[in-house]
Amino acid sequence: MLNSSMSKPRILTGDRPTGPLHIGHYFGALKDRVALQDKYDTFVIIADVQALTDNFLTPQKVRDNVKEVVMDNLASGIDPQKSTIFIQSMIPEIAELTVYYSNLVTVSRLERNPTTKEELKQKEKLFKNNITYGFLGYPVSQAADITAFKADLVPVGEDQLPHIELAREIARKFNDIYGQVLVEPKAKVSNFPRVKGLDGNSKMGKSLNNAIYLSDSPDTIRQKVKMAFTDPQKIRLTDPGHPADCMVYYYHQMFTNPSDLKVIESECQSGARGCVACKNQLADNIIDFLSPIQQKRQYYQSHPEIVDQIIKEGTAKAKLVAADTLRQVKEKMFLNY
Ligand code: ATP
Ligand code: MG
Repeated sequence: MLNSSMSKPRILTGDRPTGPLHIGHYFGALKDRVALQDKYDTFVIIADVQALTDNFLTPQKVRDNVKEVVMDNLASGIDPQKSTIFIQSMIPEIAELTVYYSNLVTVSRLERNPTTKEELKQKEKLFKNNITYGFLGYPVSQAADITAFKADLVPVGEDQLPHIELAREIARKFNDIYGQVLVEPKAKVSNFPRVKGLDGNSKMGKSLNNAIYLSDSPDTIRQKVKMAFTDPQKIRLTDPGHPADCMVYYYHQMFTNPSDLKVIESECQSGARGCVACKNQLADNIIDFLSPIQQKRQYYQSHPEIVDQIIKEGTAKAKLVAADTLRQVKEKMFLNY
């Protein structure tokens, strides 16, 4: 069974169950994930252990979002016949690898990680300038997620690049010290490696309250688009606008066809188009785009037993692969008692 799909290169990718997935996930990671599942033996991790590193006070929230995130993946086109979806905490082999890898990383290396630093700024309330061992070390656990599956490729958003670099370093170091077992993974970013938030923030994030979720209703989408940050210099309809300073134009680039986009750009710049019309057109396009995804999601929402079965089978398959890697790791470390 382990070797049945060994001929294909592997992907390990996934999401933290901290909230439903948004359009930033779709264009930043999910779209590639779906497109690549034919060519790669794909493993999709629902990273609940990692989610707990900054949500340890609200474990129910993490639990409640596991199925939401699985449904968002399935609705976006992840096919359980081709891809394996599993829950991180149900593979304790990953936690064990994390312990062994923690000897291969220095504390200062973890403290220098720019993504950890940026996330820490957003979690000031939780950590009060006093970071936990778990949060500082979550990239080590992520290296275990990736290498447990000997993944060749990891499709991710740009924020994850420092973590993939660390995973490469750990794999290399392990192989140098103990002998060749692990695969050094490569990151793959999409055309939209870091989708901005509705508020103009440099990242749309589920924990940042600036996202359009794949499951948002048409009314919610219209409301959110209405509130999006626009060019502050364009006050009246006839004022010439600056598309580069407008979040509505920014999203038009993702949801609007190239010829309409050209018209939008020139009408905005010349003052022939107002922001209200521009926002309505964007909301319509997002709603149309999400409609088939939402229909598919509806199917899974009304068949929770199918979702449970997909998770159960995926986790069982993932466990075999991770256990095999752990066995090889322990053998090299003389831990094969
Ligand atoms: P959290 O705020 O809880 O960390 P998140 O929105 O960052 O949530 P994750 O589950 O951490 O989402 O990320 C899942 C995947 O989606 C990762 O590959 C990440 O790089 C990618 N991703 C998340 N947000 C964006 C974004 N705004 N643009 C592009 N990719 C993104
Ligand atoms: Mg994140």
